[in-house]
Amino acid sequence: MSFQLIEVADATVNILCPYCHHAVLDWNQEQYIQPCEHTLFMAMDLGFEFIADRFEEVLSQSVDEIHEDPNMNVFACVSQANYPDMQIFKADLGVEGMYRYVGFSKN
Ligand SMILES: [Zn+2]
Repeated sequence: MSFQLIEVADATVNILCPYCHHAVLDWNQEQYIQPCEHTLFMAMDLGFEFIADRFEEVLSQSVDEIHEDPNMNVFACVSQANYPDMQIFKADLGVEGMYRYVGFSKN
């Protein structure tokens, strides 16, 4: 595995890109998903909210296939992806066992 996991305990805080500091999860916006050029994906355990083409290319399944899988495990999919120098933010959604994952890379 070639990623760094950053845990965010509070589901209500904005998530900032570690490279450009853009708020990719911005609760002040009606459209609170605001990916920047460094954002690889934004997903919850229920499915993907955003995925960059360059990241989908390295997944073993397409997002559509992942969503159709009754045993879908979003975190397993993204953490097994062979993407160099990836940072994954894992934010507690405040519902037991439910998380949002946001992946970034510099390139
Ligand atoms: Zn950025």
